[in-house]
Amino acid sequence: MNSTTEKHIALISVHGDPAIEIGKEEAGGQNVYVRHVGEALAQLGWQVDMFTRKVSLEQDTIVQHSQNCRTIRLKAGSLEFVPRDQLFGYLPEFVDNFLEFQKENSITYQLVHTNYWLSSWVGMQLKKIQGSKQVHTYHSLGAVKYNTIKTIPLIASKRLAVEKEVLETAEKIVATSPQEKQHMRSLVSLKGNIDIIPCGTDIHRFGSITREAARSELGIAPEAKIVLYVGRFDPRKGIETLVRALNKSKLRDSNNLQLIIGGGSTPGNSDGRERDRIEKIINELGMSDFTTLAGRLSQEILPTYYAAADVCVVPSHYEPFGLVAIEAMASSTPVVASDVGGLQFTVVPEQTGLLAPPEDVDAFASAIDRILISPEWRDELGKAGRKRVETKFSWHGVASQLSELYSQLLEQSVQEPALLAQ
Ligand code: UDP
Repeated sequence: MNSTTEKHIALISVHGDPAIEIGKEEAGGQNVYVRHVGEALAQLGWQVDMFTRKVSLEQDTIVQHSQNCRTIRLKAGSLEFVPRDQLFGYLPEFVDNFLEFQKENSITYQLVHTNYWLSSWVGMQLKKIQGSKQVHTYHSLGAVKYNTIKTIPLIASKRLAVEKEVLETAEKIVATSPQEKQHMRSLVSLKGNIDIIPCGTDIHRFGSITREAARSELGIAPEAKIVLYVGRFDPRKGIETLVRALNKSKLRDSNNLQLIIGGGSTPGNSDGRERDRIEKIINELGMSDFTTLAGRLSQEILPTYYAAADVCVVPSHYEPFGLVAIEAMASSTPVVASDVGGLQFTVVPEQTGLLAPPEDVDAFASAIDRILISPEWRDELGKAGRKRVETKFSWHGVASQLSELYSQLLEQSVQEPALLAQ
């Protein structure tokens, strides 16, 4: 293979493996993003290699997703799951194995698109070693996150420094919402090039089933009022706010209210501990009769859950984008979300759903009730949500914008030496 093959792109996602099951502790929006962007770019004619860290001997080193799109797992540290806050020390080995892979396959990636701060460090090394151009998507900003949690991890200062450096040195930063861009500017640096290209969703999969059909498939009565949460178990996801809000719902004792909480967890891990804590609150409030902890919901069954719901709630303390909101909207289900970050961009209050201040139990309760008591308004909001996602947030549209950006950057690399020679 030619070392300067155009339309060759490396997506780097050290801790977010695009080929694994989604919905557990460290697997969420980033994995979905990388996988779908990768596959959509391949359809647009790119040769896409997605690099991630291998976490067990059983995992295949290479997973071929389609003809031009594959996941490549590199060794970095021992073959076991390591929480992301403890991964930084293994990154030099990741870089070495990336270079080794290039050598063995006679490829030099002219362009790398890195995801999350850990991968941004890898991208910055590749830039130094071989002049690779770098596009970076943060997925989460330390400067925002550390404002919303009580215990700051040891790695915090390193992360903040790396996040500043990549903003100032990458050829392009991709912010997924105007709110994220604003945070980069106000909290990280005024230097650097930022474009806004949102996350996307599969508008064919989500929205493929009616509410009636979905309910009959899941055995849910037509008159039930279904409130749905989908996401990881993490205190910052605000599941507690949702549970306490439903306890205050005017429909609490109507016999029709049902709360479904979808998301996987591993006993003993941090998501398992959060699940136990939430279950305890549900029991204490006497809500177990109408609450289902549904476990991890596969991407195949998720469209059915979203379609069956009257309202999907995203009560996060902070969310740089929030894929769940657009998945629900694509399924014509209104969203009640925290008035933060990317949710302010995706959810249009009074048109596709409602926003409430994060952790404000009363505000969530009344927003949820407003939608539950009016099926006509629910349908109107749902229809507008679907339309918004179709026009703004399809993977195809997102990948086309990224493709254009990559092409521009690669063209510049071809032109630059010529310009220098003039
Ligand atoms: N998800 C899933 N099954 C689950 C829970 C979550 O497939 O049981 C997926 C969900 O559909 C979404 C992603 O995980 O695509 C979560 O992304 P989001 O941006 O909402 O949150 P993050 O995980 O990035 O914090």
